[in-house]
Order: sequence, then structure tokens, then C-alpha cells
Amino acid sequence: MRAAHYIGGAFLPDDATTTMFPLVDPVDGTTVGQVPEADRETVDAAVRAARAALEGAWGATGPEERAIALHRIADTIQARFDAFVDAEVSDTGKPRELAATVDIPRAIGNFRAFADLLRARPEHSWSTAVPGWSTGTGQALNYTVRRPLGVVAVVSPWNLPLLLLTWKVAPALAAGNAVIAKPSEETPSTATLLAEAIDAAGLPGGAFNLVHGHGTDAAGAFLTSHPGVDAIAFTGESATGSAIMREAAGHLTPVSFELGGKNPALVFADADLDAAIEGTVRSAFTHSGQICLCTERVYVERSRYEEFVTRIGARARELTDYGPMISAAHRDKVLSYYRLAVEEGATVVAGGGVPHFGDRRDQGFHVEPTVLTGLPQHARTVQEEIFGPVCHIAPFDTEEEAVRLANDSRYGLAATVWTRDLSRAHRVAPRIDAGIVWVNCWNLRDLRTPFGGAKDSGIGREGGTWSLDFFSEPVNICVQV
Ligand code: NAD
Repeated sequence: MRAAHYIGGAFLPDDATTTMFPLVDPVDGTTVGQVPEADRETVDAAVRAARAALEGAWGATGPEERAIALHRIADTIQARFDAFVDAEVSDTGKPRELAATVDIPRAIGNFRAFADLLRARPEHSWSTAVPGWSTGTGQALNYTVRRPLGVVAVVSPWNLPLLLLTWKVAPALAAGNAVIAKPSEETPSTATLLAEAIDAAGLPGGAFNLVHGHGTDAAGAFLTSHPGVDAIAFTGESATGSAIMREAAGHLTPVSFELGGKNPALVFADADLDAAIEGTVRSAFTHSGQICLCTERVYVERSRYEEFVTRIGARARELTDYGPMISAAHRDKVLSYYRLAVEEGATVVAGGGVPHFGDRRDQGFHVEPTVLTGLPQHARTVQEEIFGPVCHIAPFDTEEEAVRLANDSRYGLAATVWTRDLSRAHRVAPRIDAGIVWVNCWNLRDLRTPFGGAKDSGIGREGGTWSLDFFSEPVNICVQV
């Protein structure tokens, strides 16, 4: 797999002046490829190509043509499904089953969902009474049309590379924008395949552009601070969101941010404990905890606390088929939190270190699924996002206390409530500071629903018409009849 920039409908060849950086397989630490780093001129070229597309063939398309184009992109990804799965597994080291059942199908689903939403979207109109000075009452017709924002920058992270990239690219294209995508430097491969799929689907050159490279003082920052960019859709760390927003403020560029989390799960004594335990194993350890929606804080009603801790610990120790952290740097960060937890006084119920497999994975970036207890609520381990396969479990005594503990965080992305009491579920869920609250389930997603975070977990909502609203601007047209 060779990563390449895609600008104005053409893949850029590397030459002697191109700076390259290594692509590392996180499973065993080997270098598996070289990726071109976009400099300022390359980003400038992408912005010019996007602008030209808006002024040319892409800007002239209507919703129906774009809906057809999006379905064609979905078909093209589907036709190369295995290549996409291979590339995602190679970049992230995630289990193949995860890429084949979540990442790639959802990427296809993103294009289909926003194509269909575009077709189904109603327009608004109002009939307005106009008092006439000579002829009595007249009438005006007000109606709205939605116009694309223009050139949209999409900057995405490494944890669900194609899923999260297409979650923004699809609605941005649906709304008629020209897009410049900058995937994570850790995971350039499926983005390159996406450019091939979009090329094969026959979109006009410049409608979709792809640049590779790093973030800070590099391709990411060149793009998000560019005066020719009309909107920024970003998913990543909250601190990166702040940095991007500071730059964007200079041009008043609108932003849509999906940021970090420190997601709580509340397990009430009346819960189906088997379901709560299996659900929490999934929500804490899927993709080795590298999903923004993963649970890192679990609060269990005191009467079930001991049993819950014992059983989750046993389940964590049973896990063997898990992927690595994305990089050596991220592994070191997660391990530093494992050490910090002990310094802060935690009891390590399971894991806490580096696994030994006796094969090539021992050169990779794995850490053990880890269960912690015994920390106070204010401990850094309980307050800061770790983004690894780890959860801390604490007891609570009352519903009030459970809600207070869940909300005692700078983050507010997602939460899970486990209870069989229907009234309690409806009472507790809306009181939690989070963009999404799951009751007796986790990560069950409907692409038409609003998605995003409260507090430091994001700005705005995407999903369904919320995405189409962000990526377009209503214009009111008033006609006196
Ligand atoms: P990150 O913020 O380090 O990087 C994300 C992207 O931003 C990358 O493409 C990177 O190159 C780029 N970038 C970095 N600095 C930049 C800068 N100064 N200007 C412009 N671009 C810059 O995040 P990550 O480590 O790739 O991803 C993990 C984080 O993403 C976690 O915090 C996780 O919670 C969050 N996340 C959130 C959601 C959500 O939907 N809320 C989904 C997935 C991941």
C-alpha cells in the first residue's frame, strides 16, 4: 500500500524533494511503508483545486447528482471491501473482525446514509401576509435554499480511520462542498484507497482532495489555519481542538468538533449483572479501549460492587485476542497512566503491564487490559482520558451520588446506564452531561441521530440532518407576490 496525496483529480507522484515519513505496523513495530508529508505549497495546491471545483463542474451539481455520486462511492468501496479491510488492519493492528464488521461497513453506510438523507430532506417555505397601502392585504413567499459552505477541511484521528473520515467527508460532499481531507499520520492507507474509490466513482477533480502529514506545525495546521478554508470538521483530542480553534478564530472559520471523553458507566443493583458485565467488557476493551466512546469510569451500586469487580477482573484476564496501541508513543502514554494509578494508590485487579505473547507481537505496542479500583474521584487516573484498555471501578450508594460522580468530569461525550428499572433509566439518562446516553447497551448507533459531546468533548452535533446543517448555510429568499 502506497500513500499518496490526491489533488485536483490526480495522485501526486513523489519526487526527490518530497519529505517522507515511515509507516509503522503497531503489531510488531516494523516499518511497512513511507508516507509523503504535505508542505505548505501542497496544501495551497489542494485549496486552489477545491476552490476551482466549486467554481466548475462540482459547484454546478444538484442534490440528486450528488446523491448518485455518493452511492457510487459506496459501491466502489464495497467492490474493494477486502483491500480496505487489509489496509485498516495493517495501519491499526486492530482485529480483522472489527475492521470487517464495523470500520469498513460503516464507511460504506456513511455514504449511503447521507445520500438518502439528502434526497429525503424537506425544504421550508412560509407565506407571509403583507399589508398593502392601496390594494389591501398582499402576500410574500419566503423560502430557504441551502448553499454549501465552500472549501471544507476534514481532519481525523487514527482510531477508526476510514469510519471517522467518511463520517465527515460524506455529508460535506452531499451538501455540495469541496473537501480537503487530512487523515492521521498514523493511518494514511484507507484514506488513500478512499481517494482511489472517489476517483473511480468519477467525481469531478478537486471535489475531494487528500493530503497526508502530521498535525502541529505541519500539514494539519497548514490546512486548518488556511485563509482559503471555509469550515473545519475535526475529530481528535480536546487539546488539539483548542489549538485549531485558536488558529481558526483569525478567519472566523466555523468549526465542528468531536473531541475526547472519559465516559462513565452506571451499574445499578437492579441491573441484569451478566449483561452489565459483558457490556462493560465490550465498552472498556473493544479496540483495546481506543474508541472515543469507550468506558473508562465504572460506578457500581455498593451491594453488587464486590461481585462486579471480581467478575470483570476475571473477564479482563481471559482476553487474549486484542490489538496493540497505535504507536510506541501512545503505548508509553498508557503505561505511564498504569504507573500513575499505582502511585495514586490504586489496586490493580487485572493487567497493569505489558503482555508477553512469545511471538512477533512482543516487538509491538500491546498493553494488558487493566481493571483498577480504590482511587478517589479526584485522582488524575479517574479524571484524565487515557485512551487505552483500562477502567476504574468505584462504588456508589444512591442515585443522586451516581449522577454526581458521572458528571464530575471536564468531558461529556457518552455514558451507559445499566438498570432494569424503566423509571430510573428515564430519570437518570437526561441528567447526565453527555451527548449520548446508552441504556442497557453500548455503541448502538443510528446514523440519523445527533452525535457529539458536551463540555470539553466537542462543539456542535453531527449525524443525520445535523451534519447537513453544519456543512451548509440556509439562504432565505423573499418574493413579494
Ligand atoms: P489528535 O488530536 O492527536 O490528532 C487528530 C488529527 O489532528 C490528526 O490527523 C493530527 O495529525 C491532527 N492534528 C494534530 N495537531 C494538529 C494541529 N495543531 N492542527 C491541525 N491538525 C492537527 O488525536 P488522535 O490521537 O489522532 O486521536 C485520539 C483522540 O481523538 C482521543 O482524544 C479521542 O477521544 C478522540 N476521538 C474523539 C471522537 C469523537 O467522536 N468525539 C472520535 C474518535 C477519537
